[in-house]
Amino acid sequence: MSGIRENLNKVQETIEASCRKAGRDPKEVTLIAVSKTKPVSSIQEAYDAGVRDFGENRVQELMEKMDLLPGDIRWHLIGHLQKNKVKYIVGKTALIHSVDSLELAKEIDRQAEKKGVDRVDILIEVNIGNEESKFGVKPEDAPGLVDRILSETSRIGLHGIMCVAPYVVNPEENRQYFVKMRKIIVDIMNEVGHNVHVDVMSMGMTGDYPVAIEEGATMIRVGTGIFGERDYPV
Ligand SMILES: *Cc1c(COP(=O)(O)O)cnc(C)c1O
Repeated sequence: MSGIRENLNKVQETIEASCRKAGRDPKEVTLIAVSKTKPVSSIQEAYDAGVRDFGENRVQELMEKMDLLPGDIRWHLIGHLQKNKVKYIVGKTALIHSVDSLELAKEIDRQAEKKGVDRVDILIEVNIGNEESKFGVKPEDAPGLVDRILSETSRIGLHGIMCVAPYVVNPEENRQYFVKMRKIIVDIMNEVGHNVHVDVMSMGMTGDYPVAIEEGATMIRVGTGIFGERDYPV
């Protein structure tokens, strides 16, 4: 068995164990294999083992890999998105996790219209730990941003929120932030009305995804735990 296949089995087992612990159905949790900096051959290996959701954090890298890999892969853009790059990726992603301003949402909407793309699915990135080094809106600003995106754009499918929790050694330290994410979802539902489904929570990485699942993550983004350490930092 290759390392990647073995790692995937371990991650799947951990997902199932965390779901059992929390009384959740593992089908509620989508595993996104974060393949940034990793070669196409590694992605193909994970694909052959059954993975269809892959996450990349740079537009350029995502587009290059997309061209070389099977067409049924669902690509997730998980890194910061600059407005001037929107035109390249609209219509190519399954989900953009990192929308953090009304201006960016409007640019996505504008490019979607220009390219005849009916809907672009997104999440709002929340800077859950209020860290200066991180992107994302302040937790208290998330409901207001959701409200404005829903009323001021027409081609955006807004599904929920995403966070990159602080780097910690003990994953329990991040439980508070995952709980806070769930509260933000409740605030959003109260603000926009319960008929709108804004209930996706993309949270949890290699170091803390079991805790994120226990607190309700519907998408987890795992890189190192599947592909091994990255050779260079990004
Ligand atoms: C790199 C990255 C991940 C995966 O990190 P690992 O610790 O390797 O699992 C998840 N989310 C985002 C936004 C990332 O940039």
